[in-house]
Amino acid sequence: MLGGQGQVPILVLKEGTTREQGKDAKRNNINAAKAIADAVRSTLGPRGMDKMLVDSMGDVVISNDGVTILKEIDVEHPAAKMVIEVAKTQDEECRDGTTTAVVLAGEFLKRSEDLIDQNVHPTIITGGFRMAMEHAVEFLEKLSEPVKSNDEKMLREIAMTAMTGKSAEAIKDHLATIAVNSVKTIMEKEDGKITVDLDNIKVEKKHGGSIKDTELIEGIIIDKERVHSVMPKRVKNAKIALLNSALEVKKTEVDAKIQITSPTQLQDFLNEEEKMLREMVEEIKKSGASVVICQKGIDDLPQHYLAKAGIYAVRRAKKSDMEKIAKATGGRIVTNIHDLSKDDLGKSNWVEEKKIASDQMTYITGCKDAKAVSILVRGGTDHVVDEIERNLNDALGVVSIALEDGKVLIGGGAAPMELSQHLRDYATTVGGREQLAIEAFANAMEIIPRTLAENAGLDPINTLIDLRKAHKSGKKTMGLNVWNGTVTDMKKMKIIEPLRVMKQAILGATETAMMILRIDDVIASRNTGGPPGGMPPGGMGGMPPGMGMD
Ligand code: ADP
Ligand code: MG
Repeated sequence: MLGGQGQVPILVLKEGTTREQGKDAKRNNINAAKAIADAVRSTLGPRGMDKMLVDSMGDVVISNDGVTILKEIDVEHPAAKMVIEVAKTQDEECRDGTTTAVVLAGEFLKRSEDLIDQNVHPTIITGGFRMAMEHAVEFLEKLSEPVKSNDEKMLREIAMTAMTGKSAEAIKDHLATIAVNSVKTIMEKEDGKITVDLDNIKVEKKHGGSIKDTELIEGIIIDKERVHSVMPKRVKNAKIALLNSALEVKKTEVDAKIQITSPTQLQDFLNEEEKMLREMVEEIKKSGASVVICQKGIDDLPQHYLAKAGIYAVRRAKKSDMEKIAKATGGRIVTNIHDLSKDDLGKSNWVEEKKIASDQMTYITGCKDAKAVSILVRGGTDHVVDEIERNLNDALGVVSIALEDGKVLIGGGAAPMELSQHLRDYATTVGGREQLAIEAFANAMEIIPRTLAENAGLDPINTLIDLRKAHKSGKKTMGLNVWNGTVTDMKKMKIIEPLRVMKQAILGATETAMMILRIDDVIASRNTGGPPGGMPPGGMGGMPPGMGMD
């Protein structure tokens, strides 16, 4: 790599470093980003296909969830990684809309490529994109419709729209009801403002049974059995001690040697240990607890004493479960067992062991004013259960966002189509070269209905023409009925999505597209594989992440 001008070349980069500049660099990055978008495009919408992903260990994941697919595939190209980040951010912010965000990012870049070919400078493109993005967000805000927190019917419709998987209608309805009920149970309302912390919904999976057996449990279920079979199977009006220290005699950290010279000494030593353990159980009994949930281990001896005292005990509970139980039962997690008092105990109507499939689980139910619930997901096989869980997660995400923001858009391509038309009008008011970029952005929005049509096996061109016509004549809620291929009122079809999903998808996709467009120099050090120029359009060549981003 050479730097400087004129006679003596100055070596500035280490030998073996590859470098790509200008249009080549840009084209490569755009191709890699487009490849990522193409990888998930076919999964968009209710008639999208699934992907089967097999990792190097042979584990199989079957999904049509954008972010799940992208997390599974191994990608090295830095620009491709940036697009995957869009999906991850979308997942964190909304849970739903991950495919939409990635497909949009790919389309923005594809349209930019055309402009670059017409010698429009990337700075003009990014400038126009920014104007379009800001305008789009404002417009969508105006286009959105309100949803009331007590409108459970609409909340269920929002959940159903998000569950684009292939499960039957009756099952979707069942899952949507669970999603709405669980979010409504845990949401908090302060000064009329709703907030939802989805960490308070515990999703537990168990294969076996059918999807219809998926249930909402007003309380917490943990995948643990009681430690001793003599303990009661059910405890009524449970008083629950939450311990995060072990009911064991501490092993010394250093190698200590104890010299025992006579049999009585040994007996004394063992007696002492036993006494300590017995005291621990005494402390628990004294507090009035009838259930012990311990984050650490419980030795045989205390197990026996607890069983004798008729106390139900669980060991090695997960930390996250401990926190949820504390929240649901009003208990406090105690570290030093000698501090345990009556006030630390959580309360619930029932703690019981139930057999689900072939495993025993502990149910903690009937908690007063519970702000934490569980959903037990059932289904024929592990793959089914996993995909149902992902669907349910999207549903939980959209219901909570809809409740927090109180604003929704009409889906099925309706909102993007309306936005597209509006942005084209806006572009003409801007004029200049930016107009081209804003128009490109406007046209890129049509990728959503277009892809929905393609995935439904319909002719995308005819569909778009019909859709444009409908929106031109002021029919704002017309979208694509993917089942019969007609342009239909999506509001009547109850295809409803939270405003935030679309807004976040546009923001994430545009910001990333702009970032990729600004790169005109990719410098890659040698040790990580071939030159970026040699990469296939799939962009799976080798470069370290984070290189050449400015
Ligand atoms: P994402 O990961 O982006 O959420 P999905 O596969 O869930 O991708 O597809 C979402 C898209 O499918 C949205 O544009 C939504 O409006 C659309 N959609 C959902 N249900 C329907 C339906 N019944 N008819 C038409 N479009 C639908
Ligand atoms: Mg979705």
